[in-house]
Amino acid sequence: MTQAELNIMTSGHVDHGKSTLVWSLTGIFPDTHSEEIKRGITIKLGYADLLIRECPKCAAPNNFTAKEKCPACTSETKPARRISLLDAPGHETLMATVVAASSVVDGALFIVAANEECPQPQTMEHLMVLEAAGVKKIIVVQTKVDLVEKPQAAKNHKQIIDLLKGSAFEGSPIIPVSAINGTNLDVLLYAIQTLILTPVRDEAAQPLMYIARSFDINVPGTKPTKIGGGVLGGSIVRGILSEGDDIEILPGYLEVRKERETYKPIRTKITSLNAGGAAKQARPGGLVGVGTSLDPALTRADALVGNVIGRPGTLPPVVNSCNLEITPMKRQMAKFSEGFVENEPLVLGIGTATTVGFVLGKVKGNRKAVEVKLKKPVCAKAGDTFAILRRTNSRWHFYGTAKVV
Ligand code: ZN
Repeated sequence: MTQAELNIMTSGHVDHGKSTLVWSLTGIFPDTHSEEIKRGITIKLGYADLLIRECPKCAAPNNFTAKEKCPACTSETKPARRISLLDAPGHETLMATVVAASSVVDGALFIVAANEECPQPQTMEHLMVLEAAGVKKIIVVQTKVDLVEKPQAAKNHKQIIDLLKGSAFEGSPIIPVSAINGTNLDVLLYAIQTLILTPVRDEAAQPLMYIARSFDINVPGTKPTKIGGGVLGGSIVRGILSEGDDIEILPGYLEVRKERETYKPIRTKITSLNAGGAAKQARPGGLVGVGTSLDPALTRADALVGNVIGRPGTLPPVVNSCNLEITPMKRQMAKFSEGFVENEPLVLGIGTATTVGFVLGKVKGNRKAVEVKLKKPVCAKAGDTFAILRRTNSRWHFYGTAKVV
């Protein structure tokens, strides 16, 4: 098995058929725990690898399938590209997780159900998060077309076009599918293959990996001599990690002493890698697992999510406060009061890390910037971008992005 070349997120409103779509493409229901245990490695966002195969006989756009035998002409198909599908939660309280996922994806399938009014409350925010994260390409998947008559599907199609207007994704393809019947999945795969291309990665750079999950893979009762080290799952954004590498993990683990909370950096060694199967090296693109010699108590239950991995001394600094130059999303501004009040809480996302920040006040000489104290430190350097959620009417909404200055 080869490593997946890229991450594609399935995004959209809750119950719009994301998990069913992933299931019909891959045979995996992305949020099943059994799959997670079988692999030992996955990420908190539902996750499934998909090997896209090409039929040598069928013509475009009907030449791609996930099946070994072409459903149309029964020819043997050939592997074309392996991708990782990330199923981002659609629920509003998990918007921070969507922000985190967006930092490691190369494209998105934006799911809209044909049998409901569009946009649903979360639809717009999901779209804006993708835009803010710099995701270049989306494909809109109009699901559940088997449940509606033609005029309803056409009306929904028009609503989607209107929704995309003025965004970075205006003019994106809209592909009607029935995940249950498998209708048009070949055309969807063709769109993925031709529109969401594998980006050129900087493999020569110092490696940087975002941790999206962390595990203790040992079953209760394992003998002390048989206990495996802590496992970290996530995506490498640049560089290559190899078995045997010494690595640093920042900001590290939480130590509580006399009610004082501090984060301690972690140094360890890579003892194994999983990149679509056991591997000596792991590269950017797709989701990978890193076995370490760490005490598994440190990695249990996603304790290290939001940390970054790199060679010792090469990672961005750990910060407890920073100055942020904020750019609100124009379409969201009407929802919020102007200006920030002192001590206003913000939810901040950078990489796979989410933290709460409190506004301390304005920054001298920069009208757009505020000083923010973080509840939990993150790795960030000047020029890095945070996604910001702000509270209004007792709900958290995506507000915009902020550059560290
Ligand atoms: Zn065929």
